[in-house]
Amino acid sequence: MTAVPATAREWHLVARPNGWPTAEDVALREVPVPEPAPGSVLVRNLHFSVDPYMRGRMNDAKSYVPPFGLDKPMEGGAVGEVVASAAEGLAVGDHVLHNLGWREYAEVPAAQAVKVDGTLAPLSAYLGVLGMTGLTAYAGLFRTASFKEGDAVFVSGAAGAVGSQVGQLARIKGASRVIGSAGSDDKVRLLVEEYGFDAAFNYKDGPVAEQLQKAAPEGIDVYFDNVGGDHLEAAIAALNVHGRVTLCGMIAQYNDTTPPPGPRNLGFAIGKRLRLQGVLVSDHLDLQPQFVSDVAGWLASGELKYKETVAEGIENGFDAFLGLLRGDNTGKMVVSLGR
Ligand code: NAP
Repeated sequence: MTAVPATAREWHLVARPNGWPTAEDVALREVPVPEPAPGSVLVRNLHFSVDPYMRGRMNDAKSYVPPFGLDKPMEGGAVGEVVASAAEGLAVGDHVLHNLGWREYAEVPAAQAVKVDGTLAPLSAYLGVLGMTGLTAYAGLFRTASFKEGDAVFVSGAAGAVGSQVGQLARIKGASRVIGSAGSDDKVRLLVEEYGFDAAFNYKDGPVAEQLQKAAPEGIDVYFDNVGGDHLEAAIAALNVHGRVTLCGMIAQYNDTTPPPGPRNLGFAIGKRLRLQGVLVSDHLDLQPQFVSDVAGWLASGELKYKETVAEGIENGFDAFLGLLRGDNTGKMVVSLGR
């Protein structure tokens, strides 16, 4: 184990972005590394997560999570090693999942740290396929969309962390057809050739509605929305009677400076008796044991595959976040801090 240094680095939000975040909105600062207070542990972070929802936390707006404070470290999922403990039940050397990412060292109250086993899966998997994005896919498809065998499923952002898992879970559970959209030809190939999607298209190649119509001539029963905008409108047009939409994210709009227009064809929802429902992963923590058991099984059998895009070094954390918003990632975007 390396000695604990006197100071370490962390990313602070220093200004609220207007539109796309820029390097002027954040600062990588050197701060003292604390001794853990009673009931807490000091964690050396090994991997932290950058996620689209963090863009919302940079705004000073009321939401389901509070905004990041200015001149304070940003937060988010992280896994690391306990290097000092003042808490019962957590010992030096334990690996834990917690929510104080964006920093090299974190003082974490034991109640907010969950022990994870690095021998069962790579530690970074607890941020993705076995973690928050994986549970979002699982709950959003099986519970929110009431997926059932034989459904035709369309998912956007399909080569990303949530989307790639949604499409594969649908395939594993007997979807009649799985269709995905993504932003590059390489991603589209991955979906069909490695993840077993029946059809996929590059949404940059032409209107989504036309490409979806070709990919799903019989229509779709479930749309898992990670993108919003023209994707949602195209899906509403393609949905069959009693279709269901999981509203998971609208990444196409997160950096907009004016309110985006709504889908122009929402009226179809009446005649088709559609159900559009939002999902928040934090509402579905009760599914965690079933989710972990199912997903670990499918990973072990090779039925479920996943990829990560890894940025090395805390200094590259903010660029990794911007890259995620731009689509540089395939699968979960993770920042690794090395050993
Ligand atoms: P991700 O899909 O791994 O990464 C984001 C992806 O979005 C990028 O790789 C990019 O892929 C795509 N993208 C960016 N701009 C786009 C645009 N204008 N149009 C279409 N696609 C665009 O991220 P994730 O963590 O899995 O999250 C996916 C979605 O789920 C996000 O909307 C996120 O906010 C949401 N989410 C919701 C919850 C919840 O509880 N509701 C939890 C987790 C995530 P391309 O190359 O394909 O463009």
